Amino acid sequence: MGAVATIALVVLGIAFMIFVAFFGRLPALRRTPIAWLHRFIWVHVPAGVLALDQRVSSGRVTSSCARFGTYIMYDKHPLVLIFYFLLLSVGEILYLPTAWPQLGAVHRAAGTVAMALPYVFLYLAAFSDPGTVTSENHGAEMSRYPYDFALFHPGAVCATCRRLKPARSKHCSVCRRCVARADHHCIFINNCVGARNTHWFVLLLASTGALTLYGGVLGLSLMAAKTTARYPAWRLAPWRSGAGMDFADWLVCWGWGLQDGVAMGAVTLLALLTSPLVWGLLGYHVWLVYCGTTTNESMKWSDWQAEMDEGFAFKRAMAPAGQRAKDLRVEPAWTRWPAEAEQILVRTESGQPPRHPAGGQDPLPGVGEWEPVWRLKDVENLYDIGFWDNMVDVFFPNFSFRDIHEPVAEDNARRRVRKNKGTMGDEPEPLRNY
Ligand SMILES: [Zn+2]
Ligand SMILES: [Zn+2]
Repeated sequence: MGAVATIALVVLGIAFMIFVAFFGRLPALRRTPIAWLHRFIWVHVPAGVLALDQRVSSGRVTSSCARFGTYIMYDKHPLVLIFYFLLLSVGEILYLPTAWPQLGAVHRAAGTVAMALPYVFLYLAAFSDPGTVTSENHGAEMSRYPYDFALFHPGAVCATCRRLKPARSKHCSVCRRCVARADHHCIFINNCVGARNTHWFVLLLASTGALTLYGGVLGLSLMAAKTTARYPAWRLAPWRSGAGMDFADWLVCWGWGLQDGVAMGAVTLLALLTSPLVWGLLGYHVWLVYCGTTTNESMKWSDWQAEMDEGFAFKRAMAPAGQRAKDLRVEPAWTRWPAEAEQILVRTESGQPPRHPAGGQDPLPGVGEWEPVWRLKDVENLYDIGFWDNMVDVFFPNFSFRDIHEPVAEDNARRRVRKNKGTMGDEPEPLRNY
């Protein structure tokens, strides 16, 4: 039982640390032990090590470790991709010799497909273009989405690429390029997740989630079958004396089943413990699609929420498309999107509505009076055109919604936009200031 308990504890520990590393910063978990532990591991422990190293080697060890850490997190390299590839492959090599001979034809066929798909989608997500904005496709990328005059304003230029930033794009400092509908830079695929590969990324999460769940449940059932053959009375029923075992005996029998095929048992445990993590990430990305937003944009929306809480956010209506003179010089004349911005959102330093000199020209787009905005739900998300169309946008990046909705009556186009569904991110990003 000693070896089994050690394996179980190590696997449990690894899975828990992965969970803390991934989810410790989610605002939903802000006041939970998960966030405290995350802070302890990522802030207090490094600070302690740094202080110790300052005394012992006057900081030499930590500075080289920090360089290595920066390289791992912020440079373009395939180490984490290789780690993920090895985790999959070594797991399968350890699992299969015990499991394969016990499987019927159906499970062998399904298992082969389940094992192959993560490799296929890993390849496609990692090695396909996420939507790099180049001088050749700049015009096409500019017409991908209209500006929403809230998160993305026309006229912004990327300081590195020296080109106008298309709406929803972001410059990735790791890849050193602007990426269309940038979600985030993912170190697992050593690539950005953007307009052209988000679907591969979502399928990678789905296939990995399916593999870990399938492999975990299958391994568990194989272990249970063996254990039952060895201990026919193996059944947990502490509430009825004589009908089954108490918890301790039941666990000892599990331990025997695990020890009988340690490699498969360990992989089964790891698969079962990491599966919720993968499903959680998949759920988060499906939620983003449902909201018509990206990781990058949800962080910007949560900054807007902070501005609204302080009373610094104001909105007013945009003029109808035909009468919009201002900023049209840098706004794309045509987009494939079926809707257009009908509001502009600004923040002011003073907490007062934006003013302009009496008699002078109003420098801001939009018409009418400014009104304060207190809740995200009171502003529209131009990029949310309903779950299924959002899904089409992710899976068919070049699909033109205008083609199927043509001719678009202006009012019809506007009604497709949904109210903002809120955000989950918490990273500060600069907002446009007026
Ligand atoms: Zn750029
Ligand atoms: Zn990147």
